[in-house]
Amino acid sequence: MIISNIEMANWNVMTTFLLCTPEVVFLPLLKRVSGLIPDKIYSYLYPEKVAAQSAANSLPTQEGKHKHHWSYNLDHWKNVIYLTPSEHRLAHYYIRYDQERMMYRRLDGTLLATKSEHLAYINGLFK
Ligand SMILES: [Zn+2]
Repeated sequence: MIISNIEMANWNVMTTFLLCTPEVVFLPLLKRVSGLIPDKIYSYLYPEKVAAQSAANSLPTQEGKHKHHWSYNLDHWKNVIYLTPSEHRLAHYYIRYDQERMMYRRLDGTLLATKSEHLAYINGLFK
């Protein structure tokens, strides 16, 4: 089998990525697949989420509703969306976390950069 230099370079990038960043690649995958991710590893990987969840604990609760963060940026730690558990599950099925922006993206990659964009997108899922 003949492998071009470009293919080889891509292969090197991919294997380096997979071997050097297991916590980036495999743990979120593990979490997505099984829901199993030890708390210590979770807080190591997502300190902003742990801090935001802790900050949101001081917010009022709503009967039968979860608090959903549309953003984990410091200014938004106490800016949550109240969802039923089934809405919450559905929303997370159709969004992907972008840790660099500390916000979510639609499955097509579009950043949900404001609360109103986030709300409009997830409300569209509930119809
Ligand atoms: Zn959520």
